[in-house]
Amino acid sequence: MKFRKLFLLLIALLAMFIFTACGSSEEEAEETTEDTTAETTDADTEEVAETTGEGYSIGISMPTKSSTRWISDGESMVQFFEEQGYETDLQYAEDDIPNQLAQIENMVTKGVDVLIIAAIDGTTLSDVLQQAADQDIKVIAYDRLIRDSANVDYYATFDNFQVGVLQASYIEDALGLADGNGPFNIELFGGSPDDNNAYFFYDGAMSVLQPYIDNGQLVVQSGQMGMDQVSTLRWDGATAQARMENLLSAYYTEERVDAVLSPYDGLSIGIISSLKGVGYGSDDLPMPVVTGQDAEVPSVKSILAGEQTSTVFKDTRELAKQTVAMVDALLSGEEVPVNDTETYENGVKIVPSYLLVPISVDINNWEAALIETGYYTAEEFE
Ligand code: BGC
Repeated sequence: MKFRKLFLLLIALLAMFIFTACGSSEEEAEETTEDTTAETTDADTEEVAETTGEGYSIGISMPTKSSTRWISDGESMVQFFEEQGYETDLQYAEDDIPNQLAQIENMVTKGVDVLIIAAIDGTTLSDVLQQAADQDIKVIAYDRLIRDSANVDYYATFDNFQVGVLQASYIEDALGLADGNGPFNIELFGGSPDDNNAYFFYDGAMSVLQPYIDNGQLVVQSGQMGMDQVSTLRWDGATAQARMENLLSAYYTEERVDAVLSPYDGLSIGIISSLKGVGYGSDDLPMPVVTGQDAEVPSVKSILAGEQTSTVFKDTRELAKQTVAMVDALLSGEEVPVNDTETYENGVKIVPSYLLVPISVDINNWEAALIETGYYTAEEFE
């Protein structure tokens, strides 16, 4: 491709030279120069489009369609990869681990050049990734870290610790904890224990909340703390709903709950449903502060309805774009863009990562964050 570009450039220069030499007036020469420049630019654009993706195929393995964020991730990646000339194979595993393994194995057999994987269980992929490595297939962990394997080349994600910090800071502000207000009752929910992110979200949140628990401004009536007690397998909303129901009936018949740390919108919706079931959301018993993540449509609607309080927006288009840029660099032998080489130890090695910035969203900034950026249309909320 480089030769082709050089060749086109030489022709362009030659053409420029001949026309300039033969041109009868300055005007003619100027026109010709403009034309030639335009041609060179076209050739350049063509070259970029061809070199980046042409001839390469990318296997994209996503965990589930049950949460819309993964649908957006998949769609954006397919769009951006195909715009660059890559072929893509996008598969969803519906939160079934053997299914995800089979889909990835199939991609390896087909001989994709790169695997992009958002794992259901980050610890189950070691064997299939060994098969991939044996065929020199590169692997990018997408959003969720893949653990216990040396065969993970890069990690594209958001600053997961910061997600937890944003969720907890929202609670801190809403309750006026920094001003010394309290005591308030809080219950804590964690994400799926097989998802590395869940620990980062929880630790980030506790970095803000723990001091207030220690000094008594926050009280966890159930006493349930730590990921071993608060996690929610497979990020399942129904599981969170059932746990919230149990908490309410066991610990909140005399007390009221003032805040619920929820790490994901799908859990928040379940939690809110339990709360409404026992009368929260009325004048006498206002909704507690309930956090979330992903800015999914039902949760944004819930925020607009005054039920869920906040969410954390992670622009999946940006993550997809970043991943494509990393693949481009990887395949063309250029330096792969990363901005963190310390945080993500996967049990075998530190995986070089690119962390994007998450944004806290509530009733005050949802339009600026979600509508004005074109992530959603206003009609979706009418
Ligand atoms: C993602 C979150 C998502 C959760 C449940 C996590 O790994 O980072 O954005 O809410 O999985 O799908």
